[in-house]
Amino acid sequence: MDKEILQAEHLGVRYGRKGSAALDDLSFALSRGMALGIAGESGSGKTTALRCLAGFQKPSSGRVILQGVDITGGGWKAMKALGYPVQMIRQDTYSSLDPLSSVISLIEEPLLIKGKERKEARMEALGMMERTGLSTALASRHPMELSAGERQRAVIARALMPHPAVLLADEMTASLDASTASGIISLMRSLKDEGTSLVVVSHDLSLLERIADRLMILYRGKTLEEGRTDEILQHPAHPYTEALIAALPGNGGRMLLRTDRMPERSQSCPLLPRCMEARAECRKRRPVLSEVSPGHSAACFASESES
Ligand code: SF4
Repeated sequence: MDKEILQAEHLGVRYGRKGSAALDDLSFALSRGMALGIAGESGSGKTTALRCLAGFQKPSSGRVILQGVDITGGGWKAMKALGYPVQMIRQDTYSSLDPLSSVISLIEEPLLIKGKERKEARMEALGMMERTGLSTALASRHPMELSAGERQRAVIARALMPHPAVLLADEMTASLDASTASGIISLMRSLKDEGTSLVVVSHDLSLLERIADRLMILYRGKTLEEGRTDEILQHPAHPYTEALIAALPGNGGRMLLRTDRMPERSQSCPLLPRCMEARAECRKRRPVLSEVSPGHSAACFASESES
């Protein structure tokens, strides 16, 4: 098995002493060329997880191990010491790119920060524009003059310049039309084939199906299901995952969850207020992740009794 590049060990994030957990006991290991998809609604903890993995946010508990080094909450200092092996692609391409800089300046900047000569950095930046499907004719334009798809490619090109071992992507196709999104997905797949490891977060399971080898389903910071992507999509073991799959276009849009969002109780299943399969024990204790088939786990009493 490939050596693990990035590990999350029992990550927890809690705001305030009595606040509910934004992230609760998130754990995974990512090897070279592997793509992990993290799915869930807004508020599920996906972006908080990415911020912890990038070292920008110090978790309340747990550790982030990158290339064997503990970088928990280390921020830019930790990344610099390791040569910037992790880069993040944010959802908001406007705020990711300085509006006053030209596209080529933005793309070459990570190499200049690393101390490379400008001429060499520029050559590499032009090559990266071609590699990411961005016409070099756009080099002197400013971000506001680009289309949404071109801006996303510019963000990806900039992120790839330091040759990161790991790319973290947050809803990277959310603002793109279907054909532009397809081009970005193809690019991410080819990066993966070349050995880049990916963590891709999205509410869109159909996007993750096309990229991710493994999938984690988050709800209110908790992992409800994890396993191989094809296994989870074909044999979901958690009612919440079933509801996400049913909501995909073409699946009929069956409503499998209640819409009311009553506050959860600390000792009961987090999905209890919305779950149509709830039973008495779901009120009394909180289900933990347990294996339903080899390499596939779910946190639900209903799936426990079926496995
Ligand atoms: S543990 Fe109970 S409430 Fe929670 S998802 Fe399973 S059946 Fe529903």
